[in-house]
Amino acid sequence: MQDQHGRVIAYLRLSVTSSCPMRCRYCRPATWSASANSSHCQDELSVSEIVDMVTHLATRHGLKKVRLTGGEPTDRADLLEMIQALSAIRPAVSLTMTTNALRLPQMASDLAAAGLNRINISLDSLDRQTFLKMTGVDGLSRVLQGITAAKEAGLMPIKVNTVVIGGLNDGELWPLLDFAAETGVEIRLIELMPMGPLAGDWASQFVSAAQMRERLDPHVAHWRPLTMGSDAARRNRVTLNDGREALIGLIAAMSCPFCGQCDRIRVASDGKLFPCLMDSPSGSVLDALRPQFDADRLEALLENAMSVKPQEHPATGYSVMTQIGG
Ligand code: SAM
Repeated sequence: MQDQHGRVIAYLRLSVTSSCPMRCRYCRPATWSASANSSHCQDELSVSEIVDMVTHLATRHGLKKVRLTGGEPTDRADLLEMIQALSAIRPAVSLTMTTNALRLPQMASDLAAAGLNRINISLDSLDRQTFLKMTGVDGLSRVLQGITAAKEAGLMPIKVNTVVIGGLNDGELWPLLDFAAETGVEIRLIELMPMGPLAGDWASQFVSAAQMRERLDPHVAHWRPLTMGSDAARRNRVTLNDGREALIGLIAAMSCPFCGQCDRIRVASDGKLFPCLMDSPSGSVLDALRPQFDADRLEALLENAMSVKPQEHPATGYSVMTQIGG
């Protein structure tokens, strides 16, 4: 599938629920209603609807990768069933998930057994109080246990995502890189995007990828860039001053957008189709999935999405990440 700018789209980011137990101050507005957090909302795509859509994308359009996100994907009671069904699709797609990791201590081995290939884990701070302040949940130790459980289950390589916010966790970049060197996970430092609750106050809290690198420089002997491909991160293998090695990705979504390499489309849990993370939806796949699967209708929706996918993302986000899936 190619968009109007010639980019090949082979990666679906699928938000499977808008429900999430965390209240990350940059992601989920406190004003989001309780109904937006119901554990199974009627408008959520069902497992069979998701499988119909992904099968169509894999067989007709060469889809290579699906990332399950949210909201919090582990809030879906039928997540394991969904992963099992998606992993049976041929041609096979690589199945990954982004999670807050709170449930991973119990779920990691079942997720791997169901067919999940890899995992990204959000971790904004290694300090218990800062973690609580940023996420609204006193969950740091559970997340750390979740990372260990994911490693033990073989959900490797693990990428750990940190949104860097001036005045909150920007003093923790070195402890986070040190953590990556100790545990073997890849740390990915993400620039704050002007979406969600901090959008209005974005500039005062924004820390650029270049500033992040500058703050880490005193601890790093060598930065060795890795090939970027369609990855959002500028990845580096670094040798620390004490000789240890670590992997670090800097995601410069605002200061140096990677839109030219974008290979993604996004579907929200209510079926809204987003050709771009920061733009408005181009339609709803529900029109092609209910009351029964209609391949021609889905083709028309995809064709339209490809024709309106912008060359670069708009300056401010249309929606909030917890709805689209970051
Ligand atoms: N609940 C899961 C989690 O915690 O990873 C998945 C959904 S969460 C919306 C996905 C990612 O979006 C997280 O890594 C989060 O940090 C990121 N995110 C949310 N709002 C953001 C913003 N305004 N700027 C940059 N990244 C953001």
